[in-house]
Amino acid sequence: GESIALGELAKRMGIKATEVVAKLLRAGMMVTVNQTLDIEDAILVAAEFGFEIDRVGFEEEDLLERVVDQPDDLRPRPPVVTIMGHVDHGKTSLLDRIRKSNVVDGEAGGITQHVGAYDVRLPEGGRVVFVDTPGHEAFTQMRARGAQVTDVVVLVVAADDGVMQQTIEAINHSKAAGVPIVVAVNKIDKPGADIERVRRELADRGLVSEEWGGDTIFAYVSAKTGEGVDNLLELLGLQTEILELKANPGKSALGRIIEARLDKGRGAVATVLVQEGTLKNGDNFVCGVHAGKVRAMFDDLGRRVDEAGPSIPVEVQGFTGVPEAGDEFAVVESDKSAKRIAEHRQMKKRESELASIRKLSLENILDQL
Ligand code: GDP
Ligand code: MG
Repeated sequence: GESIALGELAKRMGIKATEVVAKLLRAGMMVTVNQTLDIEDAILVAAEFGFEIDRVGFEEEDLLERVVDQPDDLRPRPPVVTIMGHVDHGKTSLLDRIRKSNVVDGEAGGITQHVGAYDVRLPEGGRVVFVDTPGHEAFTQMRARGAQVTDVVVLVVAADDGVMQQTIEAINHSKAAGVPIVVAVNKIDKPGADIERVRRELADRGLVSEEWGGDTIFAYVSAKTGEGVDNLLELLGLQTEILELKANPGKSALGRIIEARLDKGRGAVATVLVQEGTLKNGDNFVCGVHAGKVRAMFDDLGRRVDEAGPSIPVEVQGFTGVPEAGDEFAVVESDKSAKRIAEHRQMKKRESELASIRKLSLENILDQL
């Protein structure tokens, strides 16, 4: 709940803390200078001195209306996929290939911006959103911050190289996160490709292909020639149907920052992956310690859009500062609420920074004793 230190309350009333304590003791309230008062007590104390308390603090949750979704509100949403695998096994090439085959010739914008997430339309209809996490570290860091955005991991394994150290790490990260893996055996065009070996090595790690009676989906692709890529997308579509992913598009948006940067002309811009609700132009939001208002939104092809629903990545303009990857992005009713939450978070951040500085200097002193 809301609370304020007695000393702080005294200060704001312009009365000595000891005087406040003395008066309260006389009134039968057992208090000390260092005591924290909850809102009800603070109101009583202030009243003793002829002050009225508006609001001494607030719960973020009061302003960040978290809607509890009813089953009827839920609608299917596209899966969010992260490509992982050992270095040089073809993650970037595969994503490029998927995007290229997806960009209609002559489409305005083209592949110009790096936004870290791509909305891909499947040949059969439906969509898959690819998040381009630069490495496993980002995946783990995001997860450590409670920012799990990935529904499915595509594990890329080069057919001429087999399971390597980062392949194993990727398997472990995915398992720890409880995210299903679809295997993409890549570079099948190469003379040294040995698909059987990859199957065997992955089976040893608990990923048994369906051909071998297991339940892990394997696709065989060449990011270079494009062979098998459509099949991979199709299989991803199937995997998604099994997951029955749903979200409520009919409320204010809640999402996560995929990446952010300072743009010379446009100020702070960030790719927001909407996770729930629908983000609209003009929405007020709070993100990390920053408040903001959506001034403009762009899809992954650089086209202006007016709104974005669950699982859709958009580049957002209108931040007052550069947020961090993994930050929660929440739409709030008014700019006043947004500012209030942001200021509150900034204060908390300063407090914890100060606390760690104090702790540090104390430790230094102790070291010297
Ligand atoms: P990443 O480190 O996993 O992102 O790997 P890259 O996408 O950068 O690919 C590493 C190298 O492998 C590059 O030289 C690619 O051209 C090459 N490569 C990627 N996919 C294929 C493929 O399917 N076949 C062949 N022959 N080469 C590939
Ligand atoms: Mg790469």
